[in-house]
Amino acid sequence: MQYEAVIGLEVHAQLLTKSKMFCGCSTKFGSEPNTQTCPVCIGMPGVLPVMNRKAIEFTIKTGLALNCSIASYSRFSRKNYFYPDLPKGYQISQYELPIATVGYIEIVVDGAIRRIGITRVHLEEDAGKNIHEGIAGASHVDLNRAGVPLMEIVSEPDIRSPEESAEYVMKLRSILRYLGVCDGNMEQGSLRCDANVSIRPVRAGELGIKAEIKNMNSFKHVRQALEYEIERQKGILEEGGKVVQETRLWDPDKGITVSMRTKEEAHDYRYFPEPDLVPLVIGSDWIEEIRKTLPELPYVKRERFVKEYGLPEYDADLLTSSKAMADYFELCLKDYVQPKIVSNWIMGELMRLLNQENKEIEECQVLPGQLAEMLKLIDEDVISGKIAKAVFEDMYRTGKDAIAIVKEKGLIQISDENEILRIIDQIIGENPGQVAEYKAGKEKLFGFFVGRVMNLTQGKANPAIVNELLKRRLGDN
Ligand code: ADP
Ligand code: MG
Ligand code: ZN
Repeated sequence: MQYEAVIGLEVHAQLLTKSKMFCGCSTKFGSEPNTQTCPVCIGMPGVLPVMNRKAIEFTIKTGLALNCSIASYSRFSRKNYFYPDLPKGYQISQYELPIATVGYIEIVVDGAIRRIGITRVHLEEDAGKNIHEGIAGASHVDLNRAGVPLMEIVSEPDIRSPEESAEYVMKLRSILRYLGVCDGNMEQGSLRCDANVSIRPVRAGELGIKAEIKNMNSFKHVRQALEYEIERQKGILEEGGKVVQETRLWDPDKGITVSMRTKEEAHDYRYFPEPDLVPLVIGSDWIEEIRKTLPELPYVKRERFVKEYGLPEYDADLLTSSKAMADYFELCLKDYVQPKIVSNWIMGELMRLLNQENKEIEECQVLPGQLAEMLKLIDEDVISGKIAKAVFEDMYRTGKDAIAIVKEKGLIQISDENEILRIIDQIIGENPGQVAEYKAGKEKLFGFFVGRVMNLTQGKANPAIVNELLKRRLGDN
């Protein structure tokens, strides 16, 4: 039996507002425990919540960017449960009337565009945090995070593989960062993802029973946890067993998911409309005002990059994954108008160096104009493409201009025909055996001669001229 995976993701994004969802406390990350709290967010009796207008604006903005309809009338509800990090005994969330519904995100998989449906985007408040480390025999509670605005984005079960899941979260993260509504930091937990996954016989109409996986704080973990979980469920079905509906925890050290609790149903939470808040009425004028502030979003930019610069879909997708990267690319083009070459350098050498140190392009010392100047040096035959890679790495480490490095290290390309001929003749003289074999038809040896020239010139000989002169000297033409 062939099975396919069915995946739906629930992403929680902490909003970049200065204050909390229903009180004036700061949302700053990493402060001393319990220094950013007040009677509202620690759930004292008799206090009243007040909605944070900015958080609502951010949610509308996100809804618009995800092609959703914005509800003119929505409502907050109480979701009741007990946990030590939730002093009120309930979380203010949205249930039957969320702010945004029915949209989609486009992802690129194997070069093709796929649409993943968005079920809803709603607003809620975050809970506090229990701290277990470094305290013997006790757990402490930090309520700085309690009441921080949290946006939940729920996808349709349209995702079919761990790879697509990671791609979806990356796309969503990129959109949230373009909008400036969430910093997208998965390690610090400002972007968190729960994955619902089930499997079914290929092309079966009905969905299988799902498990919900929590605790994945990187794209790699999302991928690994789902790969593991899909295999686990397949194993159960193949043995004739049944998957149970439950919440499972990803254990990154062991590389497995473990059962945490059987899944609670919505009615377990006793949702009811929040009596301390009026319904949320959003006028179309406000929606239109927010629509005007939307930046050019990644997918629009991607299409523009394809049309305007003739880039392959793949390049355009990668370059627009963050606004900073897209800006870097376009700034570079101001001084050097060959888009594909610029794209190759950014996606190749620059990304390789950034990834090595886990850095973002904002931290790159090489300014776009400096990359452009270096590319000009290649075109002007001052340096070869190969030497350029070494020069670029140097620029990356030191922030110096390409020309300064080239001069300092004596890397200027040798394009002087006489000088190259002299070296070729020397090599021909030293290797009579190879010359004879080459002339007898062993054409592969051409590479050997090129290699020798490059070796003797420390890679500085102009490759095109070397090729031409070698052919002439070896008697090809
Ligand atoms: P629950 O009530 O258990 O929270 P929801 O209907 O709210 O379930 O869906 C939560 C998430 O699970 C959504 O992203 C949805 O797309 C996904 N989902 C629902 N059913 C399935 C299924 N059978 N397999 C995989 N994902 C599913
Ligand atoms: Mg749910
Ligand atoms: Zn507070």
